[in-house]
Amino acid sequence: MCLQLTTATVLVQLKYTSYWCCNRYEELNVRLLDTVRQYSANIPQFLHNRPKFFLDHCLKRMPPVTTAIPPDNIVMSESGVFVVTSVDTADKNYVVKLRSDSNADVPSCECVDWHRHFLPCKHLLAVVHSSYCEGWTSLPLVYRSLPLFTADPDIEHARSSTSVPSVSGN
Ligand SMILES: [Zn+2]
Repeated sequence: MCLQLTTATVLVQLKYTSYWCCNRYEELNVRLLDTVRQYSANIPQFLHNRPKFFLDHCLKRMPPVTTAIPPDNIVMSESGVFVVTSVDTADKNYVVKLRSDSNADVPSCECVDWHRHFLPCKHLLAVVHSSYCEGWTSLPLVYRSLPLFTADPDIEHARSSTSVPSVSGN
């Protein structure tokens, strides 16, 4: 009897946890769609319809939060390889590669931030948005297609094919 109650309780908890997670997942995905939320004009297009953690990560590494890296601080040494002169530390340079030496599907930078997260650092973001590159699409397809960087494809597809239910809040 006690075991049956415990099993039933667990099943009910699992059912509602699953229900909550599924709905919360969908809600979080719908919230990030530009058909639902209003993006500030200073948020670049490539950050629209992205998971919130990724949006926050990049915004912390871009002006106006960080000092803008001027175009003259970025020099292409060879195809896909750039030397970025720091605006924060004198005489400090970072080599940014659109395709790293160890894995061509992943970019790289020499900075601590890159090695800590393997997510776009301010140097990589400055490079892909420089006149040398064509923005986010300059990065390897495998890297920029990581689920960490993208909304759920089904919900993203729903955006273009049907009306997406409105979600209250920001
Ligand atoms: Zn970096």
